[in-house]
Amino acid sequence: MKVTDIHTHVVLRRGFLNSNGETAATAPELVQIQDRCGVDRMVALPLASPEALHFQQSNEEVFEACDQFPGRFVKFCSVDPRIEFNSPEHDFVPILEYYKSCGARGLGELVANLWWDDPRVWQLLSACERVGFPVIFHVATKEFRTYGLISEPGLGGLERALRKFPKLQLVGHSQAFWSEVGPVKEEERGVYPPGKVLPGGAVPRLLREHPNLWGDLSAGSGFNAVSRDPEWGYRFLEEFQDRLLFGLDICRPSDKTPLVEFMRDAAGGKISPAANEKIMGGNAARLLKLD
Ligand SMILES: [Zn+2]
Repeated sequence: MKVTDIHTHVVLRRGFLNSNGETAATAPELVQIQDRCGVDRMVALPLASPEALHFQQSNEEVFEACDQFPGRFVKFCSVDPRIEFNSPEHDFVPILEYYKSCGARGLGELVANLWWDDPRVWQLLSACERVGFPVIFHVATKEFRTYGLISEPGLGGLERALRKFPKLQLVGHSQAFWSEVGPVKEEERGVYPPGKVLPGGAVPRLLREHPNLWGDLSAGSGFNAVSRDPEWGYRFLEEFQDRLLFGLDICRPSDKTPLVEFMRDAAGGKISPAANEKIMGGNAARLLKLD
């Protein structure tokens, strides 16, 4: 089994630094992080929408960065739901087929700040379903001053998409997604709620009811979901061992990687060897048809 990080971002070269003096990582920096963390390969997610960070990327730039280290990256493509004519009838199949022919294994990270039920989003999701692309998405709690597909509390927008596109594999990520492992108050949505996870959260329910939903454990949000109440976290990893995916979401070379230690510790007897193996890479290989 190859340890696979389901969620990373890579730039071809250092560019504009944001107000915190930060920049995304280059391919050589990410390979160093892989070696340090015992990761064999990372899924590289282009950021094509204007909302997410201080830069926008072309798929071509990200593919070129990946090609610097054969075998260490898996390519995804990103297509914004508003490309070309900002049209609710746009046919995305040809462009997705093109990127598939370039080696892309899925679409993401989908970060456009549009409602899940927006017809432009539906057109894109429907095309991904037809082309056979899994979609890695960021959920948002609101429109403006944020990024990601917007859902009301309880992740209703996501649930409608899971029903509407039953053959589309949807991979959940972000604070707005992972804060809903338990019931949430409005002020806890989209942040990192601490402490015990009570029954009744949207995420476990949706995972039970929709076999096309997966969970991307990357970033502070995925780490918080499984570590805030560790006993609950181990049970969650065990129950959904076939659809959870290890990841780090390195956005800057200095990002911390606490999920690596958490999973190493969990593998020492707190979760089954089978669950660990699937979460660390087996599931990614199956979802993305990798060896
Ligand atoms: Zn990301």
